[in-house]
Amino acid sequence: MLIDSHAHLDSPRYADDREAMLSRAWEAGVGAVLSIGIGEGPAEMHQALDLCRQFNGRPGLPRLFASAGIYPHATAEADENALAKLAALLAEPEVIACGEIGLDYYHEGAPRDVQRKGLIRQLEIAAARRRPILIHCRGSNESTDAWDDLFLILEEHWGKTGLGGIMHCFGAGWEQARRSLDMGFLVSFAGNLTYAKAQPLRDVAARMPLDGVLVETDAPWLAPVPQRGQRNEPAFVAQTARALAGLLNVSEAEIATVTTKNFGRLFQLRPDVGH
Ligand SMILES: [Zn+2]
Repeated sequence: MLIDSHAHLDSPRYADDREAMLSRAWEAGVGAVLSIGIGEGPAEMHQALDLCRQFNGRPGLPRLFASAGIYPHATAEADENALAKLAALLAEPEVIACGEIGLDYYHEGAPRDVQRKGLIRQLEIAAARRRPILIHCRGSNESTDAWDDLFLILEEHWGKTGLGGIMHCFGAGWEQARRSLDMGFLVSFAGNLTYAKAQPLRDVAARMPLDGVLVETDAPWLAPVPQRGQRNEPAFVAQTARALAGLLNVSEAEIATVTTKNFGRLFQLRPDVGH
């Protein structure tokens, strides 16, 4: 069984076939999906939880978990109302993570100081609710600027919680991967691991310990080869798992086993997660 640790199942791009899409995931061996609750902004943070409530318990579909968070681009909207909504969502048992949150200095959808402040406020809420975090981090061009700021913030505001989290859609270098592992984070690889130009990322992945990795789709974006360019969906996480297995010299079954175990350990889930 595989777990897709990051998919935007609430995307309007699934409006016409969401149940069939989830059914295809189950058929492809995906036993659980972490549905990311950022929507198009804080007003839509609850949508991932709504999907859990809609689909969980139906046979032939993966088990759904939800997150809630305010994406870096939306941090200008992280007012007291939005933060109160986040705190309320994180109290729900299905909402197992706070995210995706972080810093994006590449697109800079909000000023950097607004992003940093929004991140810190959400770390405080996640800590109070005892929820691991899902980090989105992207530096400007080739720079590690956002990562440097991220680690400073996490060391001050997160490390002591011991809760850890996930570096989602990891795309940085070995130094950032190593620091993430040292802080108790899991490193999650997405479909870009399969892209022709991603050799530096494959070199990082090949150095990862098995107990530090996850796989994800980031659907509907970033479809892996050979579906690249199409709408992505959780069924395609199998391609990324296959690529990671090759890099780490283990079987695909072993990658499924260790990533499921890693996910369960981070979120303190029962070992039968997904069944
Ligand atoms: Zn995402």
